Parts: sequence; C-alpha cells; structure tokens
Amino acid sequence: MPIGGGAPVVVQSMTDTDTADVEATAAQAAALARAGSELVRVTVNNEEAAAAVPRIRERLEAQGLDVPLVGDFHFNGHKLLQRHPACAEAIAKMRINPGNVGKGSRRDPQFAAMVEIACRYGLPVRIGVNWGSLDESVLTRLMDANAERREPLPPEAVMRDAVVTSAVESAERAEALGLPGERIVLSCKMSGVQDLVAVYRDLARRCDYPLHLGLTEAGMGTPGIVASSSALAILLQEGIGDTIRVSLTPEPGSARTREVEVAQQVLQSMGLRDFTPRVTACPGCGRTSSDYFQRLAEHVRGHIDARMPEWRQRYPGVERLRIAVMGCVVNGPGESRHADIGISLPGAGEQPAAPVFIDGERSVTLKGDRLAEEFTEIVESYVERRFGGGA
Ligand code: SF4
Repeated sequence: MPIGGGAPVVVQSMTDTDTADVEATAAQAAALARAGSELVRVTVNNEEAAAAVPRIRERLEAQGLDVPLVGDFHFNGHKLLQRHPACAEAIAKMRINPGNVGKGSRRDPQFAAMVEIACRYGLPVRIGVNWGSLDESVLTRLMDANAERREPLPPEAVMRDAVVTSAVESAERAEALGLPGERIVLSCKMSGVQDLVAVYRDLARRCDYPLHLGLTEAGMGTPGIVASSSALAILLQEGIGDTIRVSLTPEPGSARTREVEVAQQVLQSMGLRDFTPRVTACPGCGRTSSDYFQRLAEHVRGHIDARMPEWRQRYPGVERLRIAVMGCVVNGPGESRHADIGISLPGAGEQPAAPVFIDGERSVTLKGDRLAEEFTEIVESYVERRFGGGA
C-alpha cells in the first residue's frame, strides 16, 4: 500500500473495539476493510491487546482480507512489542505519538526503542502528533523563545508551531536512529478546521514526508462530517495529504464504516479517486410532481450499492459510471445528456413519460409502474456492454 510519492490518496480508519476482544475487533476491521478502508488502525494499549493482534490478523486472512493493520502505540509500546514479537510481525505499520511515548528522561530512550523495533521488522512509522497530547518540552521551549521576541507571537501561533516542530524534529530523530525517510509518515491532528489547515500548510512547507490528514475529535453527525470534509478538501486541493481519515464519533447504533464512506466521498467528489458510480440527482423543487423522483434516485442508489461487490469484480472501471436522475424538463435532459445514463422524470404539468439518455443520446421513453425496474435493467445492460471484458 504505497503512501505518498504520487500514489492515490489512501483511505484509512480505526477500530473502536477493545483490541483484546479478538472476535469483535476482527469483525469490525473486516467490516471497515470491506467498506473500502485500505489501512485499519487498532490501538495496542496493553498485553492482552498485543497478544490479540496476531489472532486478529489470522482471522482477517481467513476471510481473504489482506488489509494492512496499523498498531497504535503509546508510552508502553516498546515493552509490548519486545514481549510480543508476533504483534510486530502481524502489523504493517506502527503509529507513535511523540507526546505520549514517555515522560521526562524516559521519552528519548523509549522513542529510540520504538524506532529500533520498526527498523528490525522493516515497519513504516507514522509519527502522529495530536495537539491534545503535545510534547510539553517542545511547547515550553518555543514559548520561552517567543517570550524573548521583541514582538511575541500570539499563543495559538506558538502552539501550532510546536505541533509542526514536534512532528518534524521527531522524524529527523527517527532518521538519525536509522529509520529510512521513505518509511516515515507524519500527521498533526487538530480539532479546528482553521488550525488544521494552517498547521498542514506549514508542515508541507517544512518537510517532504508523506502526510496523513485528519481532523481529530471532529464530532458527531452532520457537523462532524462537514468539518472534516471542509478541512480535508482545502488541503487536498492544494496537493497536501497522502492518506486521510475522517474521525467521526459514531451515533449510537450507527456503523463504524460511516467514516470510510465519508472519506471516500470526499475524494470522489473532488475528482481525486473513484470508488462507486456517481448518481447525480437534482434537489427537487416545486416542479417535482410527487416524491417519486426521490424514490427513484434512492432505488438506483440502492441497486448500485447492492450490485457493487459483484460489479467491482466483473466490470473493471465501473466506479467511473455516471448516472443522472432528474426531476423535470428544466435541467433534466441537459444533465442527463452529460451523464453516461440519465433519466428525466415528468415534472408537474409535463406528459407522464420519462426520456432516458444513453451516452448523450435520447434512447427510450419509460412510463408506467415498472419504470424503476426498467431503468435499472437499462443500467445493468449498459454496465455489461461498456465495462464487460475489462473494457
Ligand atoms: S430539474 Fe426540475 S425538479 Fe429538479 S430542481 Fe431543477 S427545476 Fe426542480
């Protein structure tokens, strides 16, 4: 799974199960991988978790899932990996937070021990700074230096600088300890959109390492999704970011896989990657004659989602398919012509007939009770014709 160097931006996620619970963690990691997470991070916080990781790996392989696992380590990571070499063998990457690797005089030797283990097992390392657990020694040093300036910077500017400095200096220390630079990924997670944008612009200016983007503690539901999407979109548009995670707080009862879907949608909506056929639908307005238009759009989306596991295998490139479901004649034919397949439903006062457009040309006109089924049959035969045989 290449990260950086011009490779497509990678989607990743993290489990929220107790890693020691092999069954629950393997099930969630499998669900995340099937949803499209290309890396899955698990916390390795104690002996039981470290012992569980190889068994989680086995369970994933037994299901034919080779998604790389990333071990998330903190102050006891070096001890856990020394006692559980099978854990080091089962993970594909480790994440170290320089602010949590150890306090005081223990910080540097414990950081060095983690880097030594990464070198021994050939593991890449994400050095992940989180502003909520920033290395206090870096912050104190920069605050002291700022106090000496004739015109001191505001405290938040020093804090941002400390986040970036902690990441860059930790990476330089890791390289000095023997970790090859191409095996280092950096992240600086912040919880505010403007802070995240400012920090990553600075980080991208100050180093060449691949960068992992994500707004930490983005929150729940729509505000969390919007905040993450806004921050990621600004940076990705500037060419900053090689792998992303959308850290959503799951609403009770909702699936953990939501964060993967949102991350994919961010990349797809920006035209950076394609994961699933796009269904363009107008928002509807007073010209829509009933809720049939919304139901048809939902039917088409549901059909695609249900068929994608098979389509993905049989029809390479199908994720680039574009379908339009439009509510009336105002924008319907125009938008439908721009899609691979489009349908323009009859709006209020229009003839009860729905013209279908294929590759920009008007094809058939559908009407009657089986309109939804007939439209999805047209979609099926188009997919077979265009993407069958690996075209
Ligand atoms: S295409 Fe027609 S129904 Fe849809 S938003 Fe535009 S005017 Fe309204």
